[in-house]
Amino acid sequence: MNIFSGLEKIVETNYPLAKHTWYGLGGPADYFIRPKTVKQLQDVVRRCNENKIPIYVLGFGSNLLISDEGLRAAVIKLEADAFTQTKFDGQKVTAGAGAELSKLVLTCVQKGLSGIEGLTGIPGSIGGAVRMNAGGNFGDIGSAVEFVTVMDIHGNIFEKKKPELVFDYRSVNITAKFIISAYMELNPSDPEQIMRTVKEMWIYKKNSQPLNTRNCGCIFKNPPPFLLSQESRGASAGSLIDRAGLKGLQIGGAVVSEKHANFIIAGKNCTGRDIMELIDTVKQRVKEQFDTDLELEIEIWK
Ligand SMILES: Cc1cc2nc3c(=O)[nH]c(=O)nc-3n(C[C@H](O)[C@H](O)[C@H](O)COP(=O)(O)OP(=O)(O)OC[C@H]3O[C@@H](n4cnc5c(N)ncnc54)[C@H](O)[C@@H]3O)c2cc1C
Repeated sequence: MNIFSGLEKIVETNYPLAKHTWYGLGGPADYFIRPKTVKQLQDVVRRCNENKIPIYVLGFGSNLLISDEGLRAAVIKLEADAFTQTKFDGQKVTAGAGAELSKLVLTCVQKGLSGIEGLTGIPGSIGGAVRMNAGGNFGDIGSAVEFVTVMDIHGNIFEKKKPELVFDYRSVNITAKFIISAYMELNPSDPEQIMRTVKEMWIYKKNSQPLNTRNCGCIFKNPPPFLLSQESRGASAGSLIDRAGLKGLQIGGAVVSEKHANFIIAGKNCTGRDIMELIDTVKQRVKEQFDTDLELEIEIWK
């Protein structure tokens, strides 16, 4: 019997994932599922559980490397209308997990609402941004989020609020499998001033990141200062990689960016394996030189 009988319209099999990742890499998933409603999502999750099918939740794939062999699993993407709405109520906004972060940033600018303009230039969905606590030197999404609506692996839906909800560097203490939406509180501000910040951020990104390449943002997290020796204290992952002389290092079609050493670019004919090997090499060389274990910021699904 077909595991997903009755749900054929939202379930595709042996589905290539590459087109759903920023790297443009990734083999097929056994099941690629795009539920149209929360109820359908619950149904899908129940059937996956009953049939012991592992579940992966995909946002916009801007922080992911998926193996060339693909996944013997169900990959679920919340891209239907039910998951992509944003609703404003004065300076508060509820954003669906599948909504696009950059669009929300721009809408907030137009409405003269400050709080998430520091996320300018970060690709991805609201769900992915919350899961990763996306951000940087100019702030992170966690500082604007008051609560999230989540769904656990059994289909139970509940809210998690601050102060119970705690955001940290590129992480959050959400254990539920699905983020359904996020409620944010913003601050009224001068739209022109916010726009100036947005423009400054774009110039900063343009000057420091290899835009217009296939990449996944920063590969590694910045190491906590206490793990570094006195002379390297406070160094970012990118600067350690640079100081190890690894800019331009290439394996197959994967190359360490000359512009930002913490970016690995997928060039022509690049495979997921090339990137994984380059990641391992970079880690090893940084370990040898600085006695520091770099931790991945991106996720690898294999
Ligand atoms: C050019 C470029 C620049 C970048 N710059 C930055 C930056 O400055 N700062 C920064 O923090 N990041 C940056 N990133 C990384 C990336 O954009 C962020 O991590 C982003 O938040 C990922 O969102 P996504 O929707 O693409 O998530 P995905 O990559 O699809 O998934 C990432 C994680 O989120 C989970 N996830 C996604 N949606 C949901 C959901 N609805 N429920 C539960 N879990 C979910 C996935 O399972 C996975 O664990 C950059 C990436 C690129 C390509």
